Amino acid sequence: MPSFQFLHRPKNPLEQGGRNSIPAKPGADDAELSEQCPNCHRQIPLSQLWNDANTCSCGYHFRIRAAQRLALLADHGSFIPEFDGLLGGDPLSFPGYQKKLSATQSLSGSEEGVLCGQVTIGGAPCCIFVMDPYFMMGSMGTAVGEKITRTFELATELSLPVVGYTVSGGARMQEGMLSLMQMAKTSAAVRRHSQAGLFYLTVLTDPTTGGVMASFAMEGDMIFAEPGATAGFAGARVIEQTVRKKLPPGFQTAEFLQAHGFVDAIVPRNEQRAILARLLAMHQKGGVR
Ligand SMILES: [Zn+2]
Repeated sequence: MPSFQFLHRPKNPLEQGGRNSIPAKPGADDAELSEQCPNCHRQIPLSQLWNDANTCSCGYHFRIRAAQRLALLADHGSFIPEFDGLLGGDPLSFPGYQKKLSATQSLSGSEEGVLCGQVTIGGAPCCIFVMDPYFMMGSMGTAVGEKITRTFELATELSLPVVGYTVSGGARMQEGMLSLMQMAKTSAAVRRHSQAGLFYLTVLTDPTTGGVMASFAMEGDMIFAEPGATAGFAGARVIEQTVRKKLPPGFQTAEFLQAHGFVDAIVPRNEQRAILARLLAMHQKGGVR
């Protein structure tokens, strides 16, 4: 079994300048920088993208760092980080993994692929986990699985609902079988939380795939998705090669999944905080507040 280490005291990741801190708003030096929208091909200045929560006016949702997303959702100053500093190590001594992990930590400013903690959203308390697309594409290794499991255990202990934002390329191959184990472990924690009569809402963001999709991402009492998000288990090409059939247009998009009953609602990023606040208020232990 892998051992987990807390390397330093938890620190609020929303503090500017620290690890996991919210990306700084583009300053004057970045005034000329822009990003092209893959949907409408418009050039969008970075400052505007930042102000619009990384969405384009055409409705395209760019990926967003976990800390920035958390800042959009959380009531100001309400986030209490949990399990920060929990690292999984290199259980298989996989060639080059430690080096890649260290480089990713330096580049992303994050320690691992998920942020977890307690928070209030519109005054309603919950436990939350937010996966980070900029940390090895949110891949689930032992630390990610352990942090999410502990988030559910904490929520069960505190009788709180859980909100989970998923983004993942799947299991972290460098941790092999131990990554796959996280599917069963997280699912057991979700089950115990559910048996305690507590509410769990997931929001699938682009892309949610592999072992994450096949475990806690699809275990929410309610499942939301962001517009246009890719979500599915195996890749479309692998499925086509296996079943030897052409897949329908839009397969594995949030919209396709909603039409086929896997997703309850597609909620644009700028509406999520208000909807989450209402749902969380309705689902506090003991009924409507
Ligand atoms: Zn656009």
